[in-house]
Amino acid sequence: MTETPHRTDVAIVGAGPVGLFAVFECGMLQLSCQVVDALDAVGGQCAALYPEKPIYDIPGYPRVQAAELVERLFEQAEPFAPRYHLGQRVERLEACRFDEEAGAPDGWRLTTSKGVVIEARAVIVAAGVGAFGPNRPPLTGIEAYEGRGAGRGVHYFIARPEAFRGKRIVLAGGGDSALDWSIILAELAAELYVVHRREKFRGAPESVARLHALAEAGRLELVVPYQLDSLQGRDGSLEAVVVRDLDGRRRTLEADVLLPFFGLSMNLGPIAEWGLELDRHLIPVEPTTCATSRPGLYAIGDIATYPNKLKLILCGFSEAALAAHAVRRRLHPDEELHWEYSTTKGVPGG
Ligand code: FAD
Repeated sequence: MTETPHRTDVAIVGAGPVGLFAVFECGMLQLSCQVVDALDAVGGQCAALYPEKPIYDIPGYPRVQAAELVERLFEQAEPFAPRYHLGQRVERLEACRFDEEAGAPDGWRLTTSKGVVIEARAVIVAAGVGAFGPNRPPLTGIEAYEGRGAGRGVHYFIARPEAFRGKRIVLAGGGDSALDWSIILAELAAELYVVHRREKFRGAPESVARLHALAEAGRLELVVPYQLDSLQGRDGSLEAVVVRDLDGRRRTLEADVLLPFFGLSMNLGPIAEWGLELDRHLIPVEPTTCATSRPGLYAIGDIATYPNKLKLILCGFSEAALAAHAVRRRLHPDEELHWEYSTTKGVPGG
């Protein structure tokens, strides 16, 4: 259903690390932001693909867990009160008249997959490798258990691990995300079954070692080689997950929650339809402003490309600053920006 448009200075497509930092940079220049992400939680690849992994090349942090970096970036953006629209893709992007007096389109209208409409004076596309979507296991009736609220039913992403404290959890998958989340949830769950169709896990060797150590310590049970067979429950309330081995023998695991981690499908999706010049699924930008081929539209982070581009978080942070300043100059061409360091200026409530 289409609702009344939300209006903002800047709409940011993507709440990955780079999109989150763009909120901060825009905020420092008194630009309001609304952020849309296809995922249910902020953090992009860091949160969805490798939350437990340490990152070693963020300036000032000799080592920081990806999930912690996301928490810090979220906290850093908070003083500027951004509005997040999560769990929805930006489907359409079209030029619009933001200021009613404007003779020609001077802004952008974004429409999401949930019908939310945002009108913005500028757009920063921080869409990484495109919109993520979970690979769903082919279980009959699984939709009935999706979207049932934190700590219940079927979840493909975890925003707040605390919501799973004291729950009986079946976690399925054998890659890095499955391993990372098993290690985190072993501390919180009442019972944790880790289901994988092979004896061997595919993740980082140290994570595999930690998983086996947790199993030996009785913090979780490895249910291998088994695969998901069916779900049992009533009125959308999950009661058990049935698994089967290679010979078809079934086992019923009583559970409140099923967490399938079968990877993510990624594609540029609707971005390819926005009339932007593209270079092999990336958006070419002018490297000193991150401006794209369309006025008022900027691209930063993994999705932006220019000669010698490095797909690193720290480069994305710099691009966020460059884009925010370019947006500010575009929206206030007659105002001389009095340059101030953050140390001089501070942040609201800081
Ligand atoms: P992303 O993190 O990809 O976030 C983009 C967001 O945009 C996603 O959440 C997506 O859902 C959303 N989105 C896309 N299209 C739409 C749409 N149409 N509507 C709504 N939302 C949309 N980098 C480093 O600097 N150091 C490292 O050590 C490092 N290690 C890594 C390890 C692994 C295993 C991986 C996979 C990557 C690693 N990286 C590392 C790369 C780093 O994660 C990326 O450079 C970074 O995530 C890019 O950030 P981003 O915000 O540009 O994009």
